[in-house]
Amino acid sequence: MNKFIFVSGGVCSSLGKGVAASSIGALLESRGLNVRMVKCDPYINVDAGTMSPYQHGEVYVTDDGAETDLDLGNYARFTKGRLSKANSITTGQVYEAVIRKEREGQFLGRCVQVIPHITDEIKNRILAVAKEDNETDVVIIEIGGTVGDIESIPFLEAARQMIHECGKINAISVHLTLIPEVAGGELKTKPTQHSVKSMQEMGIQPDILICRSPVMLDEATRRKIALFTNVDLDAVFTSPNIDTTIYKVPIVFFDQKLDQVILKKMGVESRHADMRPWQSMMERFAARQGKVRIGVVGKYMELHDAYKSLYEALFHAGLENGVEVELVKIDSSGLEESENVDNILGTAGSAGGIDGILVPGGFGQRGINGMVKAACWARVNKVPYLGICLGMHIMVIDWGRNVLNWSDADSTEFSQDSKHPVVSLLEEQVNVKNYGGTMRLGASETVNEDGTHILAAYGEKRIWERHRHRYEFTNQYREEMTGTGLKLAAFTPDGALVECVEWTDHPWGVAVQFHPEFKSKPTAASPLFRDFIAAVKKNK
Ligand code: GLN
Repeated sequence: MNKFIFVSGGVCSSLGKGVAASSIGALLESRGLNVRMVKCDPYINVDAGTMSPYQHGEVYVTDDGAETDLDLGNYARFTKGRLSKANSITTGQVYEAVIRKEREGQFLGRCVQVIPHITDEIKNRILAVAKEDNETDVVIIEIGGTVGDIESIPFLEAARQMIHECGKINAISVHLTLIPEVAGGELKTKPTQHSVKSMQEMGIQPDILICRSPVMLDEATRRKIALFTNVDLDAVFTSPNIDTTIYKVPIVFFDQKLDQVILKKMGVESRHADMRPWQSMMERFAARQGKVRIGVVGKYMELHDAYKSLYEALFHAGLENGVEVELVKIDSSGLEESENVDNILGTAGSAGGIDGILVPGGFGQRGINGMVKAACWARVNKVPYLGICLGMHIMVIDWGRNVLNWSDADSTEFSQDSKHPVVSLLEEQVNVKNYGGTMRLGASETVNEDGTHILAAYGEKRIWERHRHRYEFTNQYREEMTGTGLKLAAFTPDGALVECVEWTDHPWGVAVQFHPEFKSKPTAASPLFRDFIAAVKKNK
């Protein structure tokens, strides 16, 4: 019998439900259990692929090409379980499936309703993840939104039904709330009391409470919360603010015995927890020496979540190189307007001296010329450069414009009438009309050329990384653009698409068509990010 843990949130959003759910997953894995993570997103979009990063943060991509909520990235960084399309359930998908069945006449004339048809569809999708293989012990289901939201009601109702049907020993509710501090430093439990009442109105009695709070809650406060909420005193936990790294959360929960309480409630016997990977990661964190400043030059700079996996991958790479990576977020539109980017990026520049440049993925024309200037600056000044997807297009455009003197070199994404379209639409994309789920998506194989940085980083000729793009290096330019310091360093196995370009007369300039950040973990950094930071450290 599989076990199910439903993680919901109350009081307000952005309390770190994804990190809490992932940390529970990490704790259970440390005890040898096989864990699968599922995210339920109450929005009506079928997936996150069509949403602006400003609306919803980065779009995380799985091996099978699902464009999902960024929480799946948290799951991937904290846990080992496979993540695919099935692990991301949205209201849009659920309704789409139910309406399709209705049109096919599968409901035999019955009136189709939220209960039971929508809730059945949700339950079946959760059960499908549990039954995908025979190995899964626990499925952790994070329900997006906050209790009380209209949108999340069908998901909470499905959780209620599953808890009832599976029995308390097999399905439990973990509820995350906020304990705010008011003037005078007093901690307030009332919002938590109300949040649990809202859960009870939904028919769900939380078994475990995790309270976000500025400090660890004392026993008197926990006792008060327990009294008002029907939750056992030993099941009221604190998720305090952490000033080191979010990867400490599993240890913070472990120290409070959260895993033991969960296992006891679910009647699971397990071996001793092995927290060594997390502990040694924290040791490496504390042992870092010195700092490198990485200029991330993109267009969604105000919102940290817009480049979530990328920032995390830089942090992981810092851990592996024993150095702190300071993120310098540079809006490319600002660079576009500046006459001399050295005044911003250079040693005496306003950004305070940048040791490495990273141009991340992105869409649309805004700020493109600023990114090209940043790439040009890195190339000329021999500053390490990592380009990802759009960042590869930028490196190619810079080469065309500033080395080969084709002043109009461009991607056809940004200019339709350039005489030098050095980046252009993938052939398979030419007739695509719909935006949702139609890019080149998911994992595919790349073959690295000999004598390249990319081969040195991965240590393997053949690698698998994930893609999400419509445009590529234009093949007609392969000869004209290379041999003079730009190297085509990796291709698809059939040789049809360029997957990586590198500067040869330069300490380390590498740009890839795929997104290595999605597979980076705190315990194993992405090889490319690791070598980028190593080059930056060496070059400094
Ligand atoms: N906009 C570019 C394309 O569609 C790059 C996409 C990306 O960076 N993910 O090809």
